[in-house]
Amino acid sequence: MDVRPPEALDTAAMVAAAMLSPLAELAVSDAVVFALGQRSMTLWPQWIDELSAANTAADAQPVYYRQQGSLVVAHSPDQSSLEHFTRLLHHKLPVAYQHQVHSLDGAEVATLEPALAGRFNQGLYLQGEGQLANDQWMAALAQEIRRLGCVWLTEVDVHTLEPHRLQGERAAGQGGREELSVAVDRVVDARGVGSKTLLPALRGVRGEVLRVECIGMELQRPVRLMHPRYQLYVVPRPNHLFVVGATELESEDVGPVTVRSMLELGSALYSLHPAFGEARLISLSSALRPALDNDQPTCKLNDGIWHINGLYRHGYLCAPALVETLTRNLLESST
Ligand SMILES: Cc1cc2nc3c(=O)[nH]c(=O)nc-3n(C[C@H](O)[C@H](O)[C@H](O)COP(=O)(O)OP(=O)(O)OC[C@H]3O[C@@H](n4cnc5c(N)ncnc54)[C@H](O)[C@@H]3O)c2cc1C
Repeated sequence: MDVRPPEALDTAAMVAAAMLSPLAELAVSDAVVFALGQRSMTLWPQWIDELSAANTAADAQPVYYRQQGSLVVAHSPDQSSLEHFTRLLHHKLPVAYQHQVHSLDGAEVATLEPALAGRFNQGLYLQGEGQLANDQWMAALAQEIRRLGCVWLTEVDVHTLEPHRLQGERAAGQGGREELSVAVDRVVDARGVGSKTLLPALRGVRGEVLRVECIGMELQRPVRLMHPRYQLYVVPRPNHLFVVGATELESEDVGPVTVRSMLELGSALYSLHPAFGEARLISLSSALRPALDNDQPTCKLNDGIWHINGLYRHGYLCAPALVETLTRNLLESST
């Protein structure tokens, strides 16, 4: 297998829009994901603060993180999609969280997102949702790994896992391959779809996104556009960048983004605001979301090896809560 360098833009972790949307995602998930998401929403600000406090290197970059809610809108002909989404959310959302869902009229949409003034007569504001810049997050984690003096073997294809040993291979000079065998205290397998041999129920669900730059366009929060055929989201990032996603295809095709997907995402983006017609395409990327049959994440010990997997559409949403569970288990089993 071709293992990608950490900064490559074709792993789910790098392609993801990295929205933290426990409410909106409840429409397509369940109480397990919701509970993990809610716990993670309290952990994310702590993680971001701890990481920036630890990382005092002169070249340390802050991680863009926002928790200013998200907005859901639909064009007039698609109002029934927004109404269905609203009813579904109220039906699935525990009573204690219902107050975080606010129905908006056109003027309230415009107050939240002035760039969308006059474009939508109704909307839904989901209080407490957030997003982060995952490229910055990954870069900050890499910096922290180095600061802590950890040995990080990148670009190694790990093919064999034992409770206290990892084996893999990596590229060596002149097109050759070099075998590696590393003794370790514990093994935690988080290879996403790459763990299929140990988790046969795992499947990859293809997702594609566009990244665009649109000078002059300002959005404060992720905006989801409801549509009977597909849902689009536009997630703002620093420097007038926007992540536009995402397709969801039951396919393990890892090829580049198709013309059809690019047209669907691009035309929905243009329909959100015509100013996006002048946006510059920065990248088109695709990756596989690792999913299990119940579409729930798992954190379990199998034959002496810990697995964190099945994060599907919710890797960023659920990661802190899963890591907390894993850490607790590791500490308990070492005492
Ligand atoms: C288009 C898209 C949009 C998304 N949007 C969101 C979102 O808004 N919010 C959210 O919470 N989640 C989102 N997700 C989901 C999220 O990205 C995934 O749930 C998460 O990245 C899964 O993490 P993972 O570490 O299990 O797998 P991955 O992110 O796939 O990472 C697995 C890593 O293991 C490496 N690897 C694989 N095989 C091997 C091997 N044999 N040896 C060594 N290394 C190996 C890979 O190179 C990769 O670096 C999105 C995903 C996609 C594709």
